[in-house]
Amino acid sequence: MEPKTKDAANSRDLASLAYQHTLFSMVPQSEVQSDGPCIYVEGKGVHVTDHEGRQLLDMMSSTSRANSLGYGNEEIARAMYEQALRMHYSGTTRFLSEPTVTLAAKIAELAPGRLSKVCFVSGGSEATETALKLARQYQQNTGKPRAFKVISRWNAYHGSTLGALSVTDWLNVRDIPDPRAVGHSFVANPMRYRNPYGMSEEDYADHCASHLERQIQFEGPDLVAAFIAEPIMQANGVQIPTKSYLQKVREICTRYGVLLVIDEVITGFGRTGNWFASEHFGIEPDIMTMAKAMSAGYAPLGAVMTRDEIADALPVFRHVHTFSGHAVACAAANAVIAIKEREGLIPRAAKIGAEFGANLAEAVAHLPIVGDVRGLGLWHAVDFTRDKQTRAVFTDDTVKAVVRRMRDLGVVVSAIGSALEIAPPLIVGKEHLDRTVAVCAQAITEVAKERGLA
Ligand code: PMP
Repeated sequence: MEPKTKDAANSRDLASLAYQHTLFSMVPQSEVQSDGPCIYVEGKGVHVTDHEGRQLLDMMSSTSRANSLGYGNEEIARAMYEQALRMHYSGTTRFLSEPTVTLAAKIAELAPGRLSKVCFVSGGSEATETALKLARQYQQNTGKPRAFKVISRWNAYHGSTLGALSVTDWLNVRDIPDPRAVGHSFVANPMRYRNPYGMSEEDYADHCASHLERQIQFEGPDLVAAFIAEPIMQANGVQIPTKSYLQKVREICTRYGVLLVIDEVITGFGRTGNWFASEHFGIEPDIMTMAKAMSAGYAPLGAVMTRDEIADALPVFRHVHTFSGHAVACAAANAVIAIKEREGLIPRAAKIGAEFGANLAEAVAHLPIVGDVRGLGLWHAVDFTRDKQTRAVFTDDTVKAVVRRMRDLGVVVSAIGSALEIAPPLIVGKEHLDRTVAVCAQAITEVAKERGLA
């Protein structure tokens, strides 16, 4: 049948081009076939419009969780345009560009503790690779010349490239068996709602910290270069550890001369109501990675930070990427940080996020398939269970069905393992948050009823 309008024709053309030429990732082929590709064509504020003209409330800051200032921000676009006209330069070695230098100085001011030296990269996985190399090169140049091993945690996600994948335990991005860099091992991570041993929260947090110490001893302290962890894990929805857990981890790393690499790729730049989530736990990382919201998703950008003492111990940091410190990306990030500061968006995220969390819990916690509702700042999760007593997870597509129903009702959220994740742009309005609470409650109620779970 012929499309009725030019727009319909365009939208069909776009979809068929997407079918023909896209290698779809992280989605089963069958789902692409049944649902078709979704092509976003426009965004303004917290709304996005797809190729069929459907407007949706984007409560995920895009699929990447990076677009923390929503869409269509003229100030950021202008800063990028002006920088591109002036000079679009990216470079490492001694040759830098102006926005790169000012951005490094600014994030040194915002970062926790003594983190002061910055190495720019193009995204989170590159940041992980860079951090691990930095840790190894530091150890080789100081007291542990043989150290190459890295310890990370069950369920961790640090990226999809080989080094980052080797410290990643999130099975969705792995082929089994797949080749991984040697020398990496995993320890338990505290899941407060659902832990495998049924211990109390505090006991499990202690157990997880002790597991790290034991693993360092097992691998050989002289061979372990670093331990890498997200301060708040995304797996199965916003896993907020106890303060004591991360503080114990910090002590153990210091005791064994193992560098603590904190991955703030998803948590950095305001998501949790602080510039960096490490601040919630009072810890100072030795190395910290960041990306995503750093440029609010306007340009591919990431960074690795460390202390003077670590940077200064290397005669030369043997590492380079073509697009490190791209001037247009750094100009975007400078504008993004200026907006977040000027508009007080980070303390606002803490405040409205807490209200949203309370409203969400009140509206959905009592529903039959909801096990836990948790969050910090503007990052929240509803964790589902088919049995509130045992906290058993759904092994079918119930969580995805809730996400799908919310989308049908006009609100975009994500499924992440046993949970549904909500990560709106920091500019989100109260009306959008209220709508999300109502739509979430409606979707859960309908799906539970439909599936005979109510
Ligand atoms: N670390 C964390 C904690 C992340 O959430 C991600 C991305 N989801 C990465 C690393 C990898 O970042 P990227 O996708 O930019 O390579």
